[in-house]
Amino acid sequence: MDLYYADGNRKIGPIGKAELQALIKTQKVNAKTLIWQAGMTDWVELGNFVRSRSSGGAKVKPSDPLARQSVCSECGKRFAEDEMIRFMDSWVCASCKPIFVQKIKEGVSVAAAMEYAGFWLRFGALFIDGIIMWFISMLIFMPMGFITAAFTDQTAVMVITPLITTLFQLAIPAAYDIWFVGKYAATPGKMACKIKIVTADGGRVSYARACGRHFAKWISWMILLIGYIMAAFDDQKRTLHDRICETRVIRN
Ligand SMILES: [Zn+2]
Repeated sequence: MDLYYADGNRKIGPIGKAELQALIKTQKVNAKTLIWQAGMTDWVELGNFVRSRSSGGAKVKPSDPLARQSVCSECGKRFAEDEMIRFMDSWVCASCKPIFVQKIKEGVSVAAAMEYAGFWLRFGALFIDGIIMWFISMLIFMPMGFITAAFTDQTAVMVITPLITTLFQLAIPAAYDIWFVGKYAATPGKMACKIKIVTADGGRVSYARACGRHFAKWISWMILLIGYIMAAFDDQKRTLHDRICETRVIRN
């Protein structure tokens, strides 16, 4: 995959897919940047790159059994390559092309518009949420402690209280996290740090995704917080649970 792009009068390349994505992210290139690839007659804008690919290349009859086939990256069905368009290393069929082109255009502008929240900002948000959660827990567990202390001789209380305590310890953070993220795209800690959770394309996070993300956090916890630390080394500042749930944390 050898692509060239124009930077003023200079032709820069060859670059691969990963390099192009990095350039899009750092806003070195955008939908208007001119792109050229071996075999192309002229330079085209990155946003129109996909369209131009379909007009080039030798025509092979669709019925030709020797025609090379590829799988459409959108719908997963097989087609002859001459009926498809190619973008980087993805093949897309004719019927999926409009959606694909739209996605790329949005992807280019969305990636340029999103400013990913860094590790320490997210750490600050977690810290604030931690304090709030501790306060809520105290309000619930303190009275429970007094009740338990008053009935220590009763086996039922000795068994039931730890069970209820554990249940609350799981339920309070879950309810807090899922409700706030589903409704406001951010917990109070994140709101205070002016950051929010969005989907990979910058869209709203549903309650279902917020729920999945909450439980995916458990995995990040269980591997000694490595899932969280990953954000410090990721180009899009993703934690493990962001990767699992296809979410990003961005500045408001
Ligand atoms: Zn398709």
